[in-house]
Amino acid sequence: MNISMTNCMRCGSANVGGAQFCSGCGATLGFQNIGPQPVQKTGNGRAILALVLGIVGLVLCGFTAIPGAILAWMEMQAVREGRAPQANGGMAKAAFWINIAALVLTVFFCLGFGLLGSLSGY
Ligand SMILES: [Zn+2]
Repeated sequence: MNISMTNCMRCGSANVGGAQFCSGCGATLGFQNIGPQPVQKTGNGRAILALVLGIVGLVLCGFTAIPGAILAWMEMQAVREGRAPQANGGMAKAAFWINIAALVLTVFFCLGFGLLGSLSGY
């Protein structure tokens, strides 16, 4: 039997390990067993942001695709160099091509409509 004792942080009484409450003062001991939680850095916020910028660029015919493409490219580089989880690679790649598509469509449509507008003016 492995009996570990936990000292109460409030009154200092020794309590059986795993006890929920202090036998001396009744304070909660549970929190003493919970160590600092490991910080999970997923880092896929950049890939998601790039994806959102690309979609916004597609829908609104806007130049959000430029920072979107740059963000997606940075994320792809990060995945390649092992600074971001491999799982983000696919999303970053998708975001990159969506942004490129949005950029191409933006240039073609917006310039096309602008040209059309100026031509019909005459
Ligand atoms: Zn106590």
